[in-house]
Amino acid sequence: MWVDLHIHTNFSDGTYSPGETVGFAKRANISIISITDHDTVEGIEPALEAAKGSNITVIPGVELSARKEGKSIHILGYFIDCKNKGLIDFLNWMKEARYKRAEKVIEKFRSFDIELDIQEVIKEAGPGVIGRTHIADVLVKRGNVNGIGEAFAKYLGYGKPCYIPKANVSPKEAIDIIKDASGIPILAHPGLLSEDNWIPELVTDGLEGIEVWYSRHSNNQIEKYKSIAQKYNLLMSGGSDSHGRMKKYPLIGEYKLPYSCLKALLTKREI
Ligand code: AMP
Ligand code: MN
Ligand code: MN
Ligand code: MN
Repeated sequence: MWVDLHIHTNFSDGTYSPGETVGFAKRANISIISITDHDTVEGIEPALEAAKGSNITVIPGVELSARKEGKSIHILGYFIDCKNKGLIDFLNWMKEARYKRAEKVIEKFRSFDIELDIQEVIKEAGPGVIGRTHIADVLVKRGNVNGIGEAFAKYLGYGKPCYIPKANVSPKEAIDIIKDASGIPILAHPGLLSEDNWIPELVTDGLEGIEVWYSRHSNNQIEKYKSIAQKYNLLMSGGSDSHGRMKKYPLIGEYKLPYSCLKALLTKREI
């Protein structure tokens, strides 16, 4: 039985709708998926709907954006109650904050004589929340850059001239929001974060697991995070972080995990 617990849809910066995502999972022989969009749970209900009557289980998830020492840190939440008021209030606030941030980014582009229209960005974002990749998409379409990579390297990446950080949420706040919504908080892609020394403090803050298996983790990193998980008695999670066409690799099915790796996490709640 195959599992993928880290997938984005077009409700954040993925390219496929929740329905298409479920279809791809089916074709890839994946039985359990989690939709983990950035700062939104709006894609969950349509995914559950699409999976009805099939043998695919959809675990409600989310990938919350937090910040520590100026650096972006992502906290995954699994088995969240998508109707929890605290979670919904927080996500609505984040959606608004992402919109205002996009307006500020557009303002920054003026100094490069690049006039972007917020309506274009909203259209590119589709349903759900606005992110930097949507601004990058608009730049590509207008011919200002040759690709998304160039948009980040030149303008939108951390420390680049049009970079604006997201709302300032601490890891502890993100963890609390997930827990208050009955979810299990997991540190996303620790290998990309590259701040292993933060893990003990995150555990004190209530973190319950780390993403050991990740499409961009090397075998050495997988082994390292397995032993860190054991040391701190943390659950082990894993997934592709598929964004659809936007990131090319991995598409759904190109990185999947055997059920046995994730059993401890998956049996924490009824599925
Ligand atoms: P945001 O949440 O709006 O700050 O956007 C962050 C998202 O942008 C990440 O989740 C990635 O999907 C994407 N991203 C970040 N850096 C790059 C990059 N260099 N090239 C392409 N996509 C990127
Ligand atoms: Mn993303
Ligand atoms: Mn992430
Ligand atoms: Mn992700």
